[in-house]
Amino acid sequence: MSRPELSIVIPIYNEEAGLSALFARLYPALDALDTSYEIIFVNDGSRDRSAAILREQFQARPDVTRVILFAANFGQHMAIMAGFEQCRGEIVVTLDADLQNPPEEIGNLVARMREGYDYVGSIRRRRQDSFFRRTASRFINRLRERTTRIHITDQGCMLRAYGRKVVDAINSCREVNAFIPALAYTFAQRPTEIEVGHEERAAGASKYSFYSLLRLNFDLMTGFSLVPLQMFSLGGMVIALLSALFVAYLAIRRLIVGPEAEGVFTLFGIAFFLIGILLFGLGLVGEYVGRIYQQVRRRPRYLVDAIIERDDQE
Ligand code: UDP
Ligand code: MG
Repeated sequence: MSRPELSIVIPIYNEEAGLSALFARLYPALDALDTSYEIIFVNDGSRDRSAAILREQFQARPDVTRVILFAANFGQHMAIMAGFEQCRGEIVVTLDADLQNPPEEIGNLVARMREGYDYVGSIRRRRQDSFFRRTASRFINRLRERTTRIHITDQGCMLRAYGRKVVDAINSCREVNAFIPALAYTFAQRPTEIEVGHEERAAGASKYSFYSLLRLNFDLMTGFSLVPLQMFSLGGMVIALLSALFVAYLAIRRLIVGPEAEGVFTLFGIAFFLIGILLFGLGLVGEYVGRIYQQVRRRPRYLVDAIIERDDQE
């Protein structure tokens, strides 16, 4: 099995409660596909028993299981990056460990890949989110599609398939803050999307807060496009022009009407508005500077503690 057709990459962070349920569904689902496969679990510095459980699972199925152990927590996308660098399949599928993405859907993704697509995204069928969440994500999607040309209907779903060439392209990137589905989309030549089932988290708790979701969207927009900066400089120009007209108007008024103190709050209002825009622009520039800073430090993106695999897999 030196080069399987299919590689499954699964990031794991504090998932001890749900791993046995994952194994119980994942392996039968893949065996049923009747093709050669490997599963790469990447333990992202879990502080619970996840690493030990993965070692045990390797003993149970050493023929198709490989485990990468990180030295610390480097984040879900870095874990997937590490999996991508190790995997050897022609088709690479990523999956969450919490069973929110049913492993039984992998077959549908693979079938689609075999039709000649090199990127198969997924849209969660009947998402059980609140009205507010749905509206917010629709708004953010639209904003992102406008600024980045990346068309991902449902960015929250990690159950996706990537072709070998796309994975190689991702491996040649050295980006620190990459969001894998978006990065892959920029390299894909024939992307498509399918609907997949979606379930509640089987066990354990979500690792993401509202704040990190907000961060993710900032990263997406500043990481994949310069449009925010360009919009700001354009908008800034228009506002500067309007302000100049306003100043001219005030100056003429001063000459005709003489000194006035009325409407001073209106003036304050206008000044605060402009200061607000200024602060926003500063923050926006800061986002980009921060990205540049992280990139130029050239620190390793992650540290691998150990890789557990059968010798003949090398
Ligand atoms: N994960 C990870 N490192 C982290 C956070 C999460 O490897 O720092 C993994 C986690 O174990 C899971 C996947 O990424 O397999 C998605 O995490 P989670 O289910 O918490 O995210 P959500 O579904 O809430 O977006
Ligand atoms: Mg989840």
